[in-house]
Amino acid sequence: MVEAARRKGLVAIGSGDALHPAWRREWEVFLSGRDPEEVIVVPSSEVEDRNRVHHLVLMEDFSGFSDLQETFALSGKDIATTGRPRLRHSGEEIACAVHDAGGLVGPAHAFTPWTSMYASHDHVGECYGSEPIDFLELGLSADNSYGAAIPDLYGVPFISSSDAHGPDPWRMGREYVVLEVKEATPAGVLEAVSGGRVVQNVGLFPEEGKYNRTACSRCFRQFTSDEAAAHAWKCPGDAGRIKKGVFDRARELSTGESRPRPPYQHMIPLPEILQRVLACSSPQARHVGNLYSRFVERFGDEIRVLTEVPVEDLAAVHEGTASAIDALRCGRVRLSPGGGGRYGTFSFL
Ligand SMILES: [Zn+2]
Repeated sequence: MVEAARRKGLVAIGSGDALHPAWRREWEVFLSGRDPEEVIVVPSSEVEDRNRVHHLVLMEDFSGFSDLQETFALSGKDIATTGRPRLRHSGEEIACAVHDAGGLVGPAHAFTPWTSMYASHDHVGECYGSEPIDFLELGLSADNSYGAAIPDLYGVPFISSSDAHGPDPWRMGREYVVLEVKEATPAGVLEAVSGGRVVQNVGLFPEEGKYNRTACSRCFRQFTSDEAAAHAWKCPGDAGRIKKGVFDRARELSTGESRPRPPYQHMIPLPEILQRVLACSSPQARHVGNLYSRFVERFGDEIRVLTEVPVEDLAAVHEGTASAIDALRCGRVRLSPGGGGRYGTFSFL
């Protein structure tokens, strides 16, 4: 994961699954004696509360998660079999315990129709009671415009993160934030997040996310909110459940004025661009991997390739890719939105 982060151009990553003792131990062994500024590893985990809402927790060090594990009395089978434990606690109890242990907490992928805060609640306070949240994770199907007019979220920093589940370059770093940090340490990252010093969010076009539009979770047919309600949220084609899309959910929560947010840069991972340009069936194709390596080795890292390297220089490596990245940078992208659990698709104009 650290090597993949370096190739991507990420300065810091979340460890994920830090409530799992064996996973914590692996990181602690790896991190000891290593230059801590090389790639900053922020101990992080998702947890599920008793209402099936997922929360993202960040800590300065892994021992904070060891304390949390004790507080939540997680042991034996509960903890050995999962990286995202399901707790018997409410969102408020979880947030309170995290704050007592010196960490930060906020709703994970906040708008998705399964296991998110806004899947179960209309207001932050219904989930967290009187305990404040430190940030909100937008999730892949939203950008910061989706939350800008929700009064509960005024003043809450929005973060974009990848929920990557591994080092694949089409997942890791597909979303990230640019932070203004005072020191290059996990504590510095936490301090920048809680202080709201998010300079820029970068991530997928929300339409690419698999829950962007309201759609049947079986056949993926899309509906407006009104149509879905008229069908009692049951697909007329195959009786599958219609799940409300992030686009519709965010719009109905947007009852206030739209407040300014940091700039949001829409991005497509380089392997997915190469897959399209080379007409391969998957970002894992060998052709994609070979060309990906040529770009990264030539220019240092993927984020630099996508955002900084002049198009003429990219064209010296591969012309088709250079014009695709140029189209991406200029917003010449046609999107076919995802929904119901199927990712959206894109093409370059
Ligand atoms: Zn259906």
